[in-house]
Amino acid sequence: LSMFDSVNENRISVCVRKRPLNKKELTKAEVDVITIPSRDITILHQPQTRVDLTKYLDNQKFRFDYSFDEYANNELVYRFTAAPLVKTIFDNGNATCFAYGQTGSGKTHTMGGDFSGKKQNAAMGIYALTARDVFRMLEQPQYRRKDLSVHCAFFEIYGTKTFDLLNEKAELRVLEDKMQKVQVVGLKEEQAMNENDVLELINKGTLVRTAGTTSANANSSRSHAIFQIILRQGKKVWGKFSLIDLAGNERGQDTRECDRDTRKEGANINQSLLALKECIRGMARNSSHVPFRQSKLTMVLRDSFIGEKSRTVMISMISPGISSSDHTLNTLRYADRVKEM
Ligand code: ADP
Ligand code: MG
Repeated sequence: LSMFDSVNENRISVCVRKRPLNKKELTKAEVDVITIPSRDITILHQPQTRVDLTKYLDNQKFRFDYSFDEYANNELVYRFTAAPLVKTIFDNGNATCFAYGQTGSGKTHTMGGDFSGKKQNAAMGIYALTARDVFRMLEQPQYRRKDLSVHCAFFEIYGTKTFDLLNEKAELRVLEDKMQKVQVVGLKEEQAMNENDVLELINKGTLVRTAGTTSANANSSRSHAIFQIILRQGKKVWGKFSLIDLAGNERGQDTRECDRDTRKEGANINQSLLALKECIRGMARNSSHVPFRQSKLTMVLRDSFIGEKSRTVMISMISPGISSSDHTLNTLRYADRVKEM
């Protein structure tokens, strides 16, 4: 069995990834509140206070398709999440991989690679690893005969607006035509001849995404980034892989924020993440009504929520420090709801 044959038969799979404690958490000697005793179990030791003020840890156990502990690298995470879905797009299907979680939990590290240091390293992110396997797959004789070409698009949804990351953040319009086909009008698609071309596009788009902000997280934590690998035969779409670095889920709670714009942004993020959950659940049940119109994010991903051949994987990122435990519990509960039938 090669990795391409280990096709995941589930239409939806939900995984959790715990990152290591970071420098800041280690400096503060933060307790690690996550244990992963086996590859499908995640336990959160949630700090609680009794009425008499004694403190205790409440163990909450969650079961997912896969739980990655702090020793898992991107390659391993990729192998059990996005990799089995590469075959989907060669079989005329749509594949989607989401990174969900609070800001700082490792979404961008997992999807885009490491952009935190001076040296950019996109090569080991899920965007690049997926592209690598798409080009490997193209070498197989049954697909080589089909004359397929590889194209990339990279855009961002910020509140109700959509921006093209491969075209200097040009604003894009999202329209639905009479056939209920959703179009991102003017979205730039670049053809890639090899894995290196894709790396360049990832780097370019990531720079555009974070340009003008002092900390990489200040703005990008409030937007959803969508990287797409599109297989075409001539002009026709053969299959599409959407890889999504979601807005930080704690931003959904910005609704209590004083600043009006921040509050509106928070409400928007909240709505899109709730709509996403409902759409994935609808897809899992093969439901005829999928509420994709409830947010921009779900609208542009409409194709991926319908169709027999669609496959989705969600990777929920969690920060292990005790100071994050409330957000971590929210993340685990959300992931649990996505999966629950
Ligand atoms: P997010 O995109 O969810 O806000 P990041 O991906 O930017 O979070 O991660 C925050 C920081 O933690 C970055 O410096 C990143 O390199 C680091 N980090 C995240 N996940 C891991 C991991 N699994 N191993 C090592 N460092 C990680
Ligand atoms: Mg990020």
